[in-house]
Amino acid sequence: MSDDAAGATAGESSEPRRAGETEAVTANRSPSAKRHASRAGFVPPAPATVDLHTHTLRSDGILTPTELVEAVAATGVTLLAITDHDTLAGVRELRASGATPAGLEILPGIEINTVVHDRDHIAEGEVHVLGLGVDPDDDALEAALSSQRDARRTRFEKMVTKLRELGMPIDGALEQLPPTTDEDALGRPRIARALILTGNAESVEDAFNRHLSRGRPAYVPREGLGPREAIGAIRAAGGIASLAHYSEAPAYMPFMRSLVDLGLNGLEVHYRAYDLSTVRLMQKVAADLRLVPTGGSDYHGDRETYAEAHAQLWNPPDVAGGVRAALGVSV
Ligand SMILES: [Zn+2]
Ligand SMILES: [Zn+2]
Repeated sequence: MSDDAAGATAGESSEPRRAGETEAVTANRSPSAKRHASRAGFVPPAPATVDLHTHTLRSDGILTPTELVEAVAATGVTLLAITDHDTLAGVRELRASGATPAGLEILPGIEINTVVHDRDHIAEGEVHVLGLGVDPDDDALEAALSSQRDARRTRFEKMVTKLRELGMPIDGALEQLPPTTDEDALGRPRIARALILTGNAESVEDAFNRHLSRGRPAYVPREGLGPREAIGAIRAAGGIASLAHYSEAPAYMPFMRSLVDLGLNGLEVHYRAYDLSTVRLMQKVAADLRLVPTGGSDYHGDRETYAEAHAQLWNPPDVAGGVRAALGVSV
């Protein structure tokens, strides 16, 4: 969720390897980049006309909202959700600018990394929930997102304190990094870059492996919204709450059912990194639990152009129909 403009990683946490990932993944700059990796060589059955998972520089992407929508429209996508982590700033900025290309519909979206305490199989104790079609002016949702941003700042400061106690002060190094006023940039990648400057790590990945990942000395658990609060806030704001990039779903149906009981009503079936067999398994989970299938590229922009990401995304048009039906939109 919280990275700087270099966009090293969104979720920050490493995850079990999912179907479709390749060895190329390990070359990524941080462990969590795995989550957003795509499969080399995959050719979708048809070009996607829908992308319901993208990031701008308002969270940890590279492109401005305007740059993103222009790049997306150029690929033939007609329905796009911008799903920055914990902020609707990009959506609002776009709305204010009136810069949406003709023929492209924007769904206001959000991605919330929720904290899960009681499930050992959840990597670094979090699952990511997308809110698709939320009301960007919903005060309760904004309050929830604001508390999430506050929790991130607190966690960041705790890690800085911990490193100081471990004899690796990074306060000075943080000041040497490009300044940010953006809370969304306060994540482990920024701390990792400071550790590189102080000579305590050779790369972001090295910093995670030696210091910052769960089980390492400077690790601080994430605090913030749980699935209950996040799903509730998204649904109350009129959105579909869809579980993002959770290919473990078929193996953990009781956990999935517990999320459905909390109001989860969507599942990211067509994630860019999934191969076709994974998509089929996810389709079955969605059907069994009556979840709206969603799908998207999880594009951040730090490793390829949008067109390149889009070329790897399979997201059939009926995904748009299901999402519109669930949102009560009669288009
Ligand atoms: Zn995510
Ligand atoms: Zn994402």
